[in-house]
Amino acid sequence: MAGINCIGILTSGGDAPGMNAAIRAVTRSAIFGGFKVKGIYRGYRGLVTGEIVEFKTQNVSNIIQMGGTILKTARCKEFQTPEGRQLAYETLKKEGIDALVVIGGDGSLTGARIFASEYNFPIVGLPGTIDNDLFGTDKTIGYDTALNTIMECVDKIRDTATSHERLFFIEVMGRDAGFLALNGAIATGAEAAIIPEISTEVDQLAELIQNGFRKSKNSSIVLVAESPVTGGAMTLAERVKNEYPQYDVRVTILGHLQRGGSPTATDRILASRMGAAAVDALLEDQRNVMIGIRNDEIVYVPFSKAIKNDKPINRELLNTLRRLSI
Ligand code: ADP
Repeated sequence: MAGINCIGILTSGGDAPGMNAAIRAVTRSAIFGGFKVKGIYRGYRGLVTGEIVEFKTQNVSNIIQMGGTILKTARCKEFQTPEGRQLAYETLKKEGIDALVVIGGDGSLTGARIFASEYNFPIVGLPGTIDNDLFGTDKTIGYDTALNTIMECVDKIRDTATSHERLFFIEVMGRDAGFLALNGAIATGAEAAIIPEISTEVDQLAELIQNGFRKSKNSSIVLVAESPVTGGAMTLAERVKNEYPQYDVRVTILGHLQRGGSPTATDRILASRMGAAAVDALLEDQRNVMIGIRNDEIVYVPFSKAIKNDKPINRELLNTLRRLSI
């Protein structure tokens, strides 16, 4: 761990429940290991503008149960330019920060990777996104909480769908990944999930209707992953109205409520383990890696792999959903 005295932490991109637990874990493990810690506000924007505060253990008291991120998050166009990254580097020098822990999704880790290679700067990433779309880790921080939120919402919609005998399309987040939609569908006993991973292979809607997915049911719920590839719930509902007018169709877009709320125990534990592992990784001179979890073991995933590869959906889950929704 050559020459690291002070570790900076930031959260960037889309917020996810459990980010606070991760901030707490990084801060406390770093202080435990004898490092100084600095919190950088508003993601890369705070690096560019120098919005930085030293964190003591008390700065992260009483936050493990809070959704969102106490460090705030932002999207920062400037960091995508060499000039912006130069400013960020100058801030780090001025603040005496020798290493960074970046908590965020695909975009944030892409920025981290570029910056780390330009300035030969030690950075460890934590996968913070409800979408679960980072390769090399079984789960990302925030995914389990979002999945549970979706489950609670869909259970409520089921009550009204059944009473009115309606077909509901419920749009969930996921950004080109179907994990929330597919596992949400299994968890709620939904009739189907329309996900981007399959959209290019088959016309999932036509297949559903042809299979008579509503034959034995008095309501139907289909979870749709928000994505240009699936077209989203509104587009699918319009299609049903035109092509299958016998169905009484409704749409619910769950939207940002999927991002909020107190993190589940699973997310708090995952974030705590990953946060502590980020400090271990720096101690071991690791850099340019994302902390992942595979088969309940912490792993280091090179940024290049985590970002570049598409994480495949487990086909067994699709099969299970099909078999259980007859
Ligand atoms: P997420 O991390 O949730 O995927 P974004 O894609 O919005 O969120 O990325 C968050 C931030 O990461 C961006 O606002 C930008 O500052 C930085 N970032 C994303 N892509 C790049 C890139 N190619 N080069 C430099 N910085 C980037």
